[in-house]
Amino acid sequence: MSADGAVLVLNSGSSSLKYQLLHPDSGDKIAVGMVDQIGSVGASAEHQQAGRTWRHVGDLPDHHAALTQALAFFTDAGTHLADSDMLAVGHRTVHGGQSFSAPTLVDDTVIGEIDRLASLAPLHNPVNLMGIRAMRELLPDVPAVCVFDTAFFHDLPARAATYAIDRSVAATHHIRRYGFHGTSHEYVSGAAADFLGVSTGQINQIVLHLGNGASASAIRGGRPVDTTMGLTPLEGLVMGTRSGDIDPAIVMYLRRVSGMDIDDIDRMLNSASGLKGLCGENDFRAITDLVEAGDPDARLAYDVYIHRLRRYLGAYLIELGRVDAIVFTAGVGENAAAVRRDALADLQRFGIVLDDERNTTRIPGARRISSDDSEVSVLVVPTNEELAIARQAAALVRAG
Ligand code: ADP
Repeated sequence: MSADGAVLVLNSGSSSLKYQLLHPDSGDKIAVGMVDQIGSVGASAEHQQAGRTWRHVGDLPDHHAALTQALAFFTDAGTHLADSDMLAVGHRTVHGGQSFSAPTLVDDTVIGEIDRLASLAPLHNPVNLMGIRAMRELLPDVPAVCVFDTAFFHDLPARAATYAIDRSVAATHHIRRYGFHGTSHEYVSGAAADFLGVSTGQINQIVLHLGNGASASAIRGGRPVDTTMGLTPLEGLVMGTRSGDIDPAIVMYLRRVSGMDIDDIDRMLNSASGLKGLCGENDFRAITDLVEAGDPDARLAYDVYIHRLRRYLGAYLIELGRVDAIVFTAGVGENAAAVRRDALADLQRFGIVLDDERNTTRIPGARRISSDDSEVSVLVVPTNEELAIARQAAALVRAG
């Protein structure tokens, strides 16, 4: 398949990066790849294209080297990206702060602004920038577009976006609730409306993006009115390794009594908390197995996870007043029937009734798992952030 008219979507993490080359209109994938352990001698890269797999193991010191390897894979597979008529490179970019409310063409000013926002997202924006800078060097003639995780939530109502802290401190340091996973919430809510045969403007939805990271959003007529993540992706639901909501005083208390410094606490809350902190596992499949085997820590982790999810479901049912659809997506949301069952147990009085057989029957694509007499449609809708990024990047480049 030719790369002409295709978009290369890049998701750069701290030591890994994922990419896909795809056609934005049809969604057809030309190639997918992943590089792991960037910066270590044991780095590994894998590229799949046209039914074949290419692998590389060995030193890849930085994101530039990782992407050079990715482009070499494309060349080995007969696709010369530098000579093809690609439409765009789309960069998943985590924090757009208050500056970016829509996909944005990369230039020096945009790079400077993403860099400035790094203090708000130290784990994400600097590594996103490494990918952006490397691609500008490697494919200088292809327009690059940043698609921000925060953009969909840019216009959250002030009552939902504002923390009740000293307003001058908040203003000086740009402290507000930004929300994340926006590309997924926007894509999934659009796909849910398509499935129901209505426009997003006609319905109210609660979207539950339950992956390793997890967030919920309340969407009224296509616009989000609340979401669980805040200044950073740490707030809200219990996640694989992140705590979600805690009493903020825990941070000060630990600082005073535990000997942990602020970076230790940051690491604990982001990487050693959530499900992993409670039971040692963050993969939901392992947790389900442990629960079935009677492991008490896994049971508690599962119960805390479901409890938090139901707390936000309740809040968003009240916030929206009328809910037409509850939509599950991402690794856990799409696959863990027990989580969907337990999250929505005993909610008949709110018009929410699952159909057990539909809930446990796997079929690809979007599907309804509520019973025919459930007032609220409960759906499973696979997310596809790469396609959403490719489409947004393509739309911006074509409009220009
Ligand atoms: P992210 O993009 O945030 O890394 P994903 O959306 O890929 O995360 O979701 C990863 C999570 O999905 C993991 O916790 C994994 O255990 C869970 N998951 C994947 N498949 C299944 C399954 N069949 N049953 C239960 N959980 C699953």
